[in-house]
Amino acid sequence: MISTPPVPLIAIHGGAGTISRASIGTEQKAAYQAALKDVLLAAQQLLAAGGSALDAVSLAVDLLEDCPLFNAGHGAVFTHDETHELDAAVMDGATLRAGAVACVSRVRRPLRAARAVMERSEHVLLVAAGAEAFAQACGLELVDPAYFSTEARRAQLQRARSSDATLLDHDAAALVFRPSAAGAPPLDEGSKLGTVGAVALDVHGNLAAATSTGGMTNKRPGRVGDTPLIGAGTYADNRTAAVSCTGSGEMFMRVVAAYDVCARMAYAGQSLAAAAQEVVMQVLPAIGGRGGLIAVDALGNLSLPFNTEGMYRGFARVGEAPQTAIFR
Ligand code: ASP
Repeated sequence: MISTPPVPLIAIHGGAGTISRASIGTEQKAAYQAALKDVLLAAQQLLAAGGSALDAVSLAVDLLEDCPLFNAGHGAVFTHDETHELDAAVMDGATLRAGAVACVSRVRRPLRAARAVMERSEHVLLVAAGAEAFAQACGLELVDPAYFSTEARRAQLQRARSSDATLLDHDAAALVFRPSAAGAPPLDEGSKLGTVGAVALDVHGNLAAATSTGGMTNKRPGRVGDTPLIGAGTYADNRTAAVSCTGSGEMFMRVVAAYDVCARMAYAGQSLAAAAQEVVMQVLPAIGGRGGLIAVDALGNLSLPFNTEGMYRGFARVGEAPQTAIFR
């Protein structure tokens, strides 16, 4: 029996959170959707030409990092000290090879550095100065940290700092995401949107996932989120799924969210949709985790659940028009 090759597919996200329908203007919405569509078209073209899932997610995240609308690369959020610390990871579902960098502030394209860690070192995760030196040795572009700054992000930091002032007297790591007495999140939810990610299935039936972020606005310097932790924010295994997460990273770390989707499929025989839905709608909310994920399996099934008001997202199957959405 000759089996038909899978129809290649790319899905991307640009972060999840409280994106109030009222506060986002038609023009802004159109700008986000146009940016997502451009990225999907480029990755779709690569996949249509027989390109690998790994190359497709790398290209998609490269383009999203360069787009100032999203919190990754240029346009990354600020730490409490008004610096930038970026995290990124990539995983190849065919081989379970993975690479990641965390706390880098001079690597222009953190995802390329993550891929270099995967392909050109014997390690999985490099951080801070060591990761930057490695990226430089690999010939990757380093920039002045000011390259990542935008005025919009600076304004968000100021807002976060003022609303967060009392919380910082406490153990910030534990309190940053805890709702205040009034039930409102302590941080301006709009300010922490924009982590980017991609998952893909290629014509050979291989899966890959990639995620890149500036982290959370007003985070404590040195804080690392779920994004670069293999299994927490990023995971890919041809036997189950490729997953890229976005949201309150500490909670995603605590439930090993991306891997949990794959484990449910492997051990409990759940479908991609059931596994992704359960992690996002039950497991994460049980500990106050907010956000979403994008996931694809080797059969071309796709799941894009989120428990926030919105998640910038889109997907494109080869031969079909790209679809983008922000709200439900
Ligand atoms: N998950 C990211 C982090 O915690 C943030 C995000 O997805 O917006 O660093």
